[in-house]
Amino acid sequence: MSADAGTAGSVGTGRIVVVGSLNADLTIYCERLPQPGETVHGNGFAVNPGGKSANQAVAAGRLGGHVSLVGAVGDDPNGHMLLASVAGAGVDVGQVRTSSEPTGVAVIAVDAGGENNIIISAGANGTLSPADVAEAADVLEGAAVVSLCLEVAMPTVLAAAQAGHDAGAKVLLNLSPYAHIPAALAELVDVLLVNAHEAALFLGPGASVPGAGAHAAQWDAVRERFAERGIRQVLVTLGANGSVVLDSDAPANRSVVFVKPTKVDAVDTTGAGDAFTGAVAVRLAAGDALADAAAFASVAAALATTRKGTQAAYPETADVERRLR
Ligand code: ADP
Repeated sequence: MSADAGTAGSVGTGRIVVVGSLNADLTIYCERLPQPGETVHGNGFAVNPGGKSANQAVAAGRLGGHVSLVGAVGDDPNGHMLLASVAGAGVDVGQVRTSSEPTGVAVIAVDAGGENNIIISAGANGTLSPADVAEAADVLEGAAVVSLCLEVAMPTVLAAAQAGHDAGAKVLLNLSPYAHIPAALAELVDVLLVNAHEAALFLGPGASVPGAGAHAAQWDAVRERFAERGIRQVLVTLGANGSVVLDSDAPANRSVVFVKPTKVDAVDTTGAGDAFTGAVAVRLAAGDALADAAAFASVAAALATTRKGTQAAYPETADVERRLR
């Protein structure tokens, strides 16, 4: 199914190309997480569509973006479930290849307090290669935004970033799950999306990332550290405390912008970061400035926490606009 067929409430004309992972999330809920060598009883099990890139694509599709996903799944029930979920959000899945490897899975244990343990088996995601990026040249050439994460191999991320850059697209990288990125990739990234933990890991020992309530001057020092590493625009998400925009290309009085959290009754924050990234991609593709895109994404991601699950919980444009009114 192609987003060109038109989704309700389509915004702008810029195409968003998401390159990366699709996983089946296999979740067991339990009172407490097992210790090594221990077996505990669970009290519920669910299989849901997930994977950071599939989540980003669905979030963007639901918000009216014109989205293509480049990825790989196995020819198995999990792969079929994922394709149905992503296509159901109006996302073009013509570049999701069927691999002889099984679909990627994330085995997730969640305790009564919401704490979790996750093991990912990359499966088909591990086969996504620079050759797949080359194969998707047609969609990448027309991209306004290319959105990436680190659940597929680094050479693949690098190839996609290069293709996006060459096409004149804005290259977004969600630095998750955290891994060291080569300088060549940092140079190609236009907007880095990190939570506070990933920001601290990226900046390394000696760099402190301020907590909630920190002053603009403290964040300005962080902005400078990112700029020294070649990253000029950063969105730092702070969970229930909102987010901060660090923009070294903005005038000095706009180089640090706080985005207030949207007050909601959160029931499940899984995938909130992916909803945020997908929403940013949609608004940047529509021509918004970074801080405006972050303000919109803050509402979309907050709404995503008010329902259980990830992709099924993501809001549509009308839900966000109602909240913005
Ligand atoms: P990640 O899931 O990648 O760690 P965060 O937890 O920082 O990302 O969440 C991403 C964004 O989702 C936040 O910046 C915020 O906009 C929104 N969000 C997350 N949790 C909540 C919450 N409890 N209430 C309101 N907004 C939330």
